[in-house]
Amino acid sequence: MTNLPCPSCTKPLREFQTRQVCDACHGMLLALPDLAHAITDITGLEPELEFHDEAPGTRACPKCAAAMTTLKLRVALDHEIEKPRPVLDRCVDHGLWFDKDELAAVFEKGAGKGPGGGKAKVGKPGAPSGSYGWKGHHGVPEWWGGGGGGKW
Ligand SMILES: [Zn+2]
Ligand SMILES: [Zn+2]
Repeated sequence: MTNLPCPSCTKPLREFQTRQVCDACHGMLLALPDLAHAITDITGLEPELEFHDEAPGTRACPKCAAAMTTLKLRVALDHEIEKPRPVLDRCVDHGLWFDKDELAAVFEKGAGKGPGGGKAKVGKPGAPSGSYGWKGHHGVPEWWGGGGGGKW
């Protein structure tokens, strides 16, 4: 089973469930349903995901090596619509490639939402109150890569 290199830093990727994870730069390829599910986990809300400004890109999909497109992601939660911010890469077959900060940006937006912040099931026992219980030590969710390369 050979993984293609990370589109961001060219290090080998690690497969984790349906994701392709880069342990070197913390980028990740996420299928869309996976992303939506992750946002729901964090916020307790069903996100609506829309793409804008899709254009041909230069990076290759880490699964199929096809050229990915670039686009802006818009996340609508509840009745609030977030403006497009991160520019992502997308393979039509395999989902979205997030660089580390790009995915953190999406989740940070989402983590601040949720019904009053009380109902959403974020955090773990002992996590600080507030919206950031989902964060691991690199500022990214611990479940990202299943901890395969880190300390648990
Ligand atoms: Zn990388
Ligand atoms: Zn692909």
